[in-house]
Amino acid sequence: MLNITFHGAAETVTGSKYLLETEDARVLIDCGLFQGLKELRQRNWNDLPFAEQSVNAVVLTHAHIDHIGYLPRFVKSGFRGPIYGTPATTELAEILLFDSAGNQEADAEYMNRKGVTKHHPALPLYDAQDVAHTLKLLSAVEHGKWFNPAGSIWCRYHNAGHLLGSAMIEVEVRQGAKPLRVLFSGDVGRYGAPLYHDPAPPPACDYLICESTYGDRDHGDQNILDQLCDVVQGAIRRGGVMVTASFAVGRAQQLIYLLRVLEKAGRIPQLPIYLDSPMAASATLIFNKYHDEHDMSEDRSISAEDALKAPNVHVVRDVQSSKRINSVQGPAVIIASNGMMTGGRILHHLKQRLPDPRNTVVLGGYMAPGTRGRDMQEGRDRIRIYGQDVPVRAARASISAISGHAGRSELLRWLKDLPAPKRTFLTHGELPSSNALADTLRVDRGWDVVIPKMGAEFPLV
Ligand SMILES: [Zn+2]
Repeated sequence: MLNITFHGAAETVTGSKYLLETEDARVLIDCGLFQGLKELRQRNWNDLPFAEQSVNAVVLTHAHIDHIGYLPRFVKSGFRGPIYGTPATTELAEILLFDSAGNQEADAEYMNRKGVTKHHPALPLYDAQDVAHTLKLLSAVEHGKWFNPAGSIWCRYHNAGHLLGSAMIEVEVRQGAKPLRVLFSGDVGRYGAPLYHDPAPPPACDYLICESTYGDRDHGDQNILDQLCDVVQGAIRRGGVMVTASFAVGRAQQLIYLLRVLEKAGRIPQLPIYLDSPMAASATLIFNKYHDEHDMSEDRSISAEDALKAPNVHVVRDVQSSKRINSVQGPAVIIASNGMMTGGRILHHLKQRLPDPRNTVVLGGYMAPGTRGRDMQEGRDRIRIYGQDVPVRAARASISAISGHAGRSELLRWLKDLPAPKRTFLTHGELPSSNALADTLRVDRGWDVVIPKMGAEFPLV
């Protein structure tokens, strides 16, 4: 017997949690936080429909919060088993989970201070102590090596090219004469991306659980360096500051690297760059450690480490220095997290810079509905920050090519040589995206494709 139940990333992008059950094992694939709309975030507070103690192990695809951010709550509620990830995933998880706990604590503190809560006092979903307990359960496994999280369930990681350490998970359920094979895509990266290697081809499987974030659209053909160069030159012409909301892990390192490449090629002047994120600085050290796992193929003479040490790059860790950036006049680049503008130091910069038409706000990557990032993408002229309506007079620029996710054509390219699975489940997408990809796979490939609903359970035979 093998069952799968979709406890997150079902008809939505965040909250990835898939429970695999056999007679002798229960393994959770990813343990992500719901993000974005309030109704989604509310789900983080609901009890799971299964006992945390009944799960033998968690296996992670990569360290983004929508894949690991529920772990400390899961552990707080009684989970005690091992949590597997690739070496880089387990290291990045430490930084990202402490940051997430900081956000949870700040949210609770804000609600208590403002009195905008039914709960007295409002408590964080989890705190730094819960993260510390979680980190003790982490166990690192290299790419390509079979491991046995529990009972008859075996797993093996393959590079997904989406984030440092990111992986798809090949599962073999070794019961009966012939093992059943299930493949979890995790988040699939891009081909020819300037930071990561291409995603590995998917191994043949009986069942496929595939992401569909960009199932209905591509990122365009424009080269990322050309796009970035245009945006920077536009920002210089306007005379203000270029503010970039960025995931501190991955995106920030990529941006600074690409800016260096453009500077070195003489395509942009050397601008002051403020990386306002202690987390990004720590993550960069991890990037340097795992240099084989990424690929700076645009200009191999520049390393992530060198890019960050350049004299015009100011890595800002403490709050006082962060505040001093407010007085910086353009042209200059500010990079701060978080990427969807739901919290973090980026909010202070937006509040300060959005009302001035000389400034430029750069948008790139997926923004969940209900986030300020999505509101900005959709062209809203006012954004609410810290209880104030802030007018958006700054120019908006988009660098679509910087996405860490395969676009529609890239997902189809990734799937091109895969023999038809018995059934494919499309997850991790808003419905229009998942539907578009499902239609193509059904019509062009004749595949059996299902878009599971939240809580849906399926036997895999
Ligand atoms: Zn991801």
